[in-house]
Amino acid sequence: MRIIVTGAAGFLGSHLCDRLIKEGHEVIGLDNFITGRSENLAHLGNQERFTFIEHDVSNFIEVPDDRVDAVMHFASPASPNPNSPYGYVNLPIQTMKAGALGTLNSLGVARAYNARFLLASTSEIYGDPQVHPQPETYWGHVNPIGERSVYDEAKRFAEALTLAYHQYHGIDTRIVRIFNTYGPRMRLDDGRAVPNFIDQALNGKPLTIYGDGSQTRSFCYVDDLIEGIYRLLLSDEHLPVNIGNTDEKTILELAESINNLFENDGGLTFLPDKRGEGDPQRRRPDISRALKILNWKPTIGLEEGLKKTIPYFQENI
Ligand code: NAD
Ligand code: UDP
Repeated sequence: MRIIVTGAAGFLGSHLCDRLIKEGHEVIGLDNFITGRSENLAHLGNQERFTFIEHDVSNFIEVPDDRVDAVMHFASPASPNPNSPYGYVNLPIQTMKAGALGTLNSLGVARAYNARFLLASTSEIYGDPQVHPQPETYWGHVNPIGERSVYDEAKRFAEALTLAYHQYHGIDTRIVRIFNTYGPRMRLDDGRAVPNFIDQALNGKPLTIYGDGSQTRSFCYVDDLIEGIYRLLLSDEHLPVNIGNTDEKTILELAESINNLFENDGGLTFLPDKRGEGDPQRRRPDISRALKILNWKPTIGLEEGLKKTIPYFQENI
């Protein structure tokens, strides 16, 4: 297939490009580097089945080829941390444009070329969930004007638009709801828990915990996620599918694992709680649909995944 990947220079986008090329596809990567890095794609420089175009997908997308078989829309800031310049709270309009106009333009390409389309959605569409674990049938609990709203509402709009293109224009669409994923090529300074903690541990600093650290997440290693997404691309499932790890940990447990793994004596420091601003208290995917439809489940545990991630962070410190 000839596949367009938006957000190709980001953490997930670059791993997705690698996987698609490995499977023998041609890839056209688009990115405007708002949170991504050219280094993430540097190894593809001599790959003849990979083309990169610097482009903001909030603007009309022109494709250089006469054939496109799939469009995978991953372009969007993704970190909630307002202390990072890459956090979507500090890029509010760009985030809403990537989710709204970027999705519209990407769907437009899919329609023009009669290509299949896959949207990278998120567990954030469930907001601060009142149902646990979260099945795809849960409608969510989202504050439309809260700190996270620019991201959550853009992704909710993107899902609705994707389904509208499927139902009205007959586009062959898919929606993946991605739960917290980590691995090499995350920015050390994007403020998300895993890279932030690893950065702090490598520098011998205390790990910063927002609140008492009792809030939970379920962390998925990037290779597991990409496997699930690739299977979804090849499937004919139009309704959203959760992809994520089901091994739920408190943030305190995550921080302690990272301090142990990196032999960091810096300890922990407790900062003001963000739960009043919509930081979800609990998050774990119900992945029964992924198991049934895609025969997918994660295979890499947290400690194994963190160990696979260490060399990248050591080289990039
Ligand atoms: P990332 O910040 O590393 O990657 C996002 C990429 O999109 C960056 O390279 C950025 O420069 C690019 N981008 C943003 N706006 C753009 C625009 N208007 N035009 C062109 N490029 C643009 O983040 P990531 O973790 O790789 O996230 C990728 C996608 O997966 C996002 O859509 C995100 O919402 C989704 N997601 C990620 C996670 C996760 O845990 N990593 C969880 C849920 C959803
Ligand atoms: N978190 C933390 N310290 C940090 C970064 C994050 O305590 O330095 C917490 C954050 O408040 C949230 C959880 O870790 O409760 C996961 O945060 P992340 O930014 O990875 O993503 P989220 O799942 O909140 O979108």
